[in-house]
Amino acid sequence: MRSVSIFGATGSIGGNTIDLIARAPGEYRVVALTGGANIAGLAAAARALRAEVAVTADPARLDDLRAALAGSGVEAAAGPAAIAEAADRPADWTMSAIVGAAGLVPSLRTVARGGTLALANKESLVCAGPLLMATARAAGARILPVDSEHSAVFQALAGEDAAAVERIIITASGGPFRDWPIERLATATPEQAVAHPNWSMGQRISIDSASLFNKALELIETREYFGLEPERIEAVVHPQSIVHALVGFSDGALMAHLGPPDMRHAIGYALHWPARRELPVQRLDLAALGRLTFEAPDPVRFPALRLARAVMATRGLAGAAFNAAKEVALDAFIARRIGFLDMAGVVETVLDRLSAETGLQIAAESLENVLAIDHLARRRAAEAVATKAGQR
Ligand code: NDP
Ligand code: MG
Repeated sequence: MRSVSIFGATGSIGGNTIDLIARAPGEYRVVALTGGANIAGLAAAARALRAEVAVTADPARLDDLRAALAGSGVEAAAGPAAIAEAADRPADWTMSAIVGAAGLVPSLRTVARGGTLALANKESLVCAGPLLMATARAAGARILPVDSEHSAVFQALAGEDAAAVERIIITASGGPFRDWPIERLATATPEQAVAHPNWSMGQRISIDSASLFNKALELIETREYFGLEPERIEAVVHPQSIVHALVGFSDGALMAHLGPPDMRHAIGYALHWPARRELPVQRLDLAALGRLTFEAPDPVRFPALRLARAVMATRGLAGAAFNAAKEVALDAFIARRIGFLDMAGVVETVLDRLSAETGLQIAAESLENVLAIDHLARRRAAEAVATKAGQR
């Protein structure tokens, strides 16, 4: 029996992971499940899967969690330290699917103990790519990508010589605003931004997909995971979300990965790797799809991609600052304090200020440095939000 833990079990990726595991109940022993505010969901999953421990990120909800788990035999715990400790518990396979920089510590602690990490939390690589990869290497831990584009690249690279890779192209749907007149973007609401045309995902990544901040994070993620120079990594808009990524080789060949927009494919690939097992996803009917189209992303509409290029050029702590500023800007947009286009403005202001103040290019080798810059970037972003909100 394989032992598994799921961080972010109450989320979209967490739910899809549980769906796959629950289909083969005799094959898995569940160690830890973690959640945040959704205590009922966490307790229900922990009972159904007979987890060893359930952890909520919120200490104020511990009593509720205890009550919801009464008589089940599942241990209850709460708070970020308890989440980190849950990552220290031995498990053969660990899903990292907390949203945001809060996912970094459990990702790090999992690979530090040599565990196999299925990584959906792209922020781990954006904030601390060199640290995460070095920690995994030192401990002999494997990291399997779960982000659909990165899973696609990983699959296209199987059996290939890494030295023959010329470029990696990841696709972006372009989100719900791809066709909107640019003037109208300033008025876009959170409800409109969250309505992704192809994928069903958590609220935050859905809005990041509309602004292409998600693709910006993924460009950085590609660089950190596959170790390619930034100029060899491209993003192309592909509204149908059928081709997830392509790898270009030195002989001119492009190997593409196609699949339905269903995260259970990438999760299942990471769960069963190196084997391929049958998965409950739709099979593509290419003739019914008819056509697949590609276009260059519009740099005016999507400034996040330009910011990602700057982050990749600086590296060091720039990724952690970028992500933290983006999280604060996203919160402010969701709270309707700033407009859709203001998010990129806030992030750019923070990157400019921090590179003048601190020299973001110093190596992000320690968790302390990453957490310190994350904290500072959040403060600076809150100031930039207040300025923008005052101008509205
Ligand atoms: P959701 O918002 O659906 O779920 C997030 C999970 O994290 C929930 O379990 C939530 O708990 C928990 N959580 C939220 N805040 C904290 C915190 N501060 N500390 C600990 N746990 C917390 O997100 P998704 O499932 O959509 O995304 C998860 C990750 O996977 C993200 O990094 C995302 O970028 C990535 N990803 C997602 C894809 C998708 O299709 N959804 C595709 C590719 C990558 P609760 O809900 O109980 O509050
Ligand atoms: Mg993705």
